[in-house]
Amino acid sequence: MSALTGWEQETSPFHPGEITFQERVGKRDQMELSGRRVIRPYMPQQHRDFFTQLPFIAVGSVDADGWPWASLLVGKPGFIRSPDDRALELDAAPLPGDPLAGSLNPGAPLGLLGIELSTRRRNRLNVRVAGTADGLLRFAVDQSFGNCPQYIQTRDYDFVRDPRQSGTPAAPERFASFDDATSDLIRNADTFFVASYLEAGGHSAIDGADVSHRGGRPGFVRVAGNTLTIPDFAGNNHFNTLGNFLLNPKAGLLFMDFENGDLVFLTGTVEIIHDGPEVDAFMGAERAWQFTLDHGIRLADALPIRWTLNDFSPNSLISGTWGETEAALAAEAKREAWRPYRVVRTEDESSVIRSFYLEPEDGDGLLPHEAGQYLTVRVTPEDADKPVIRTYTLSSSPADNHYRISVKREEDGWISRHLHAALKTGASIEAKAPRGDFWLDASVDRPAVLIAGGVGVTPMISMARHAATEGLRTRHYRPLTILHAAQTTGQRAFHETFQSLAEASDGALRYVSLISRPEEGEEAGIDFDAAGRIGRDVLRQHLALDNYDFFLCGPGGFMQAAYDAIRALGVRDARIHAEAFGPASLERRPDADAAPVVEQPPEAKQATVTFAKSGFEQTWTPEDGTLLEFAEAHGLTPEHSCRSGACGACVVPMLSGKETYRNTVTAPRGEGEVLICSAVPAAGADTMTLYL
Ligand SMILES: Cc1cc2nc3c(=O)[nH]c(=O)nc-3n(C[C@H](O)[C@H](O)[C@H](O)COP(=O)(O)OP(=O)(O)OC[C@H]3O[C@@H](n4cnc5c(N)ncnc54)[C@H](O)[C@@H]3O)c2cc1C
Repeated sequence: MSALTGWEQETSPFHPGEITFQERVGKRDQMELSGRRVIRPYMPQQHRDFFTQLPFIAVGSVDADGWPWASLLVGKPGFIRSPDDRALELDAAPLPGDPLAGSLNPGAPLGLLGIELSTRRRNRLNVRVAGTADGLLRFAVDQSFGNCPQYIQTRDYDFVRDPRQSGTPAAPERFASFDDATSDLIRNADTFFVASYLEAGGHSAIDGADVSHRGGRPGFVRVAGNTLTIPDFAGNNHFNTLGNFLLNPKAGLLFMDFENGDLVFLTGTVEIIHDGPEVDAFMGAERAWQFTLDHGIRLADALPIRWTLNDFSPNSLISGTWGETEAALAAEAKREAWRPYRVVRTEDESSVIRSFYLEPEDGDGLLPHEAGQYLTVRVTPEDADKPVIRTYTLSSSPADNHYRISVKREEDGWISRHLHAALKTGASIEAKAPRGDFWLDASVDRPAVLIAGGVGVTPMISMARHAATEGLRTRHYRPLTILHAAQTTGQRAFHETFQSLAEASDGALRYVSLISRPEEGEEAGIDFDAAGRIGRDVLRQHLALDNYDFFLCGPGGFMQAAYDAIRALGVRDARIHAEAFGPASLERRPDADAAPVVEQPPEAKQATVTFAKSGFEQTWTPEDGTLLEFAEAHGLTPEHSCRSGACGACVVPMLSGKETYRNTVTAPRGEGEVLICSAVPAAGADTMTLYL
């Protein structure tokens, strides 16, 4: 945009409502800078050319009672002309029954949105009516700017009649509440237009009407009584519409039936929902707003155009629907429960790793997860007399509408072999809600380095796909370098996905495949990027000097070697995040200025431990090991998985007593809960009661 001219305006193009929102999202300075350059009082030539090729233009207006309306003006391409860079002429009239007809008085402010559905291009204008003589509508431009193509579904159109001959239009239906047909049209909509209006005493850079496009997947608008709820996705951060709502909470909405030409015009009041559980649960929503109908008009077969849908916008596809949001909220009530999931698909990712795609069987939604978190699953193989628990990182991205785990078949591994052999499409598996502290925040600016060894690639594929999705959704792509080590190319999983993410990332994601045992005939630069292991030289070669966050996952020895090499480059311990898949935990060297590690209380020399559920007590001494080992030695079989305090599967309520930990535990636990795989009784309390 800025390449078009050297234009920069002296005063802010934003009003206090818009400024308040820009401040809320921390983009105020950036928007002021770019707004002065991209919002102009004239149309660049490419916008003028663009308008002339459109078959319709969306219009925002305000009626004599102060209600905003969103409308369309329609004509064969060429019906819009631009005699100069501050004027448009339209050879069109409002459709019969459109409330716009009453708002075209000279000087009246209008918002215009030229949108080409086949290419997703759109440009905005704020104009004033300059005249309506000779069957032409003349508009004078106040502000002009381009809009990004997000959330626009592509569609092709055909005229079904001459736009100048409206035929015999059906009488407009006026209503003050939604009937079933209107509710259905809105519920199934993937597109609508919204008009807003602000009166600011004739200050042309600030007041006037706006019209804007909103898109999502069908179901993104909720209808409940006379109220619609609409998620607000990441946009251009101008906040023209929401900024207007803040100062004048009224909106005009236009829904259209692309197939039969019906139009539904609504006007009413607006309430902004800045945050809350529904906003959190709606995939992609930054906030939401509620529209309450005051009155509306339905025009049957009003449009002379029909459209056919081509593609959903990639942004729409990574956003949610209200159905999914309500299912996710219902699932929230089951956060602590084991829930059944059906395997809907399996896929071999390498010679040893197989993915299992899971969908809830109980009809409720997926609980959201962070990229890098894990599922605790339980299965009962034929040779087990009770369910066995294991932990698997979610290799799916948070925006996916399924969970996916990717399991390496361990040669002597009981459950991994069972899953590969028995968990076919259609089979069932139980899992608890996603959890874990090892995850990537894609909104952070600092670049991150993901270092994966073997099956330790599972959190990294989730993180890489998440960064790409967030890059698309928010236009902020957290820079990632992925160093992916595998023994052979045959064992390497997700290689092609990483490569295509890197290709599509415009340099934001770099991927390096390291193979320690190349097969005969395989060549570096063709089959992989470099032979060997991850050490100091590899890090130096692939990482420019920068302030990175590091994420490590892989076998114990691999992680320790990578950690030591990173530390040797002068990286702080606090910048290195690691996840172990087994009991081997990383030996860290804390930073010199790190907060002192909270000393664990000393262990008891002896304690009486009561197992309250099982109804017996035993004397514990340090030689008995952890509380898990102690319980197992006395015939109990408590749930557990990692045995290192990382997965949380072994958490048990402690009714009395005091615990201390033998190793650093990372799994979240509630007040009064203890991770028995790593805990022992602490000195100072002679008794302990576990709910076990
Ligand atoms: C937070 C977390 C995330 C994880 N994410 C993943 C993931 O994404 N993908 C994944 O594949 N795994 C993951 N794991 C590991 C997973 O939970 C299991 O530990 C793994 O699948 C092995 O389980 P198993 O029952 O097959 O092996 P087990 O029977 O429990 O055996 C464990 C290990 O001991 C070895 N072993 C077993 N018996 C013997 C024997 N007699 N002699 C010598 N060695 C033996 C096995 O080869 C295996 O390596 C994760 C673990 C944690 C804690």
